[in-house]
Amino acid sequence: MQNTPNQSAMSLRPASDWALFLDVDGTLLHLQQTPDGVNRSERVCQILEGIMQRLAGAVALVSGRTIQNLDELFVPHRFPVAGLHGLERRDAEGNAHSHSESQVLDTLRPPLRKAAETHEGVIFEDKSRALAIHYRQAPDRASGIQRLVEDLVRPLAHELHVIHGKMVTEIKPWHADKGSAISAFMNEPPFVGRVPVFIGDDTTDEDGFVYVNQMSGYAIRVGGGEGDVVKTAARYSLENVDEVIAWLESWPPSL
Ligand SMILES: [Mg+2]
Repeated sequence: MQNTPNQSAMSLRPASDWALFLDVDGTLLHLQQTPDGVNRSERVCQILEGIMQRLAGAVALVSGRTIQNLDELFVPHRFPVAGLHGLERRDAEGNAHSHSESQVLDTLRPPLRKAAETHEGVIFEDKSRALAIHYRQAPDRASGIQRLVEDLVRPLAHELHVIHGKMVTEIKPWHADKGSAISAFMNEPPFVGRVPVFIGDDTTDEDGFVYVNQMSGYAIRVGGGEGDVVKTAARYSLENVDEVIAWLESWPPSL
């Protein structure tokens, strides 16, 4: 765990008071060539179940995947979860909360599907309330795809938000993000009154880091960006997925 010099002098709230929020891909599970190529780890599930017991259930996944996809990935475990970067959520009691589908995404589907069909290795993922286009298998297409998406979304920029992540560009409505999802959890039991701790590895996690900082919680970014030095609101860092798992396994961990 690395932190800025001033942070080490901060008085930290004990881990027993934390509420733990976790991104999935690149944080709990290693990134793979395609989203479907990711393998869940039973070890990760067992570690999370153990921490849930110690935090009175105050653990949630906060991911860009759909909740259905996350449930399939972690079957038979059903964690409290926010999917699609906060556009859908299942609270600790199992109640579903979701934002309505944005019709404005309809205009983007045909050109993005065509781009994926035209360029080998480019994958279009229709997540219903959000869209993603992946180019991990066609890295030379990255800038062209990013430009295409920016051009398509420009006239819709008041409604849609483009996020360039690790070898993926995501398009989602503005009205929810990982920060608003964590905030919603923090207003409900068993999260309410606890100190939010959020671990994530990518651009979409920054909204969550900002919220957690505002709540005097602890924001932890995994690794750096691919290429450039990463700009992040997170004040703590862990090197990679393996270090995240080891840190969680050492519960109660230190910052
Ligand atoms: Mg991630």
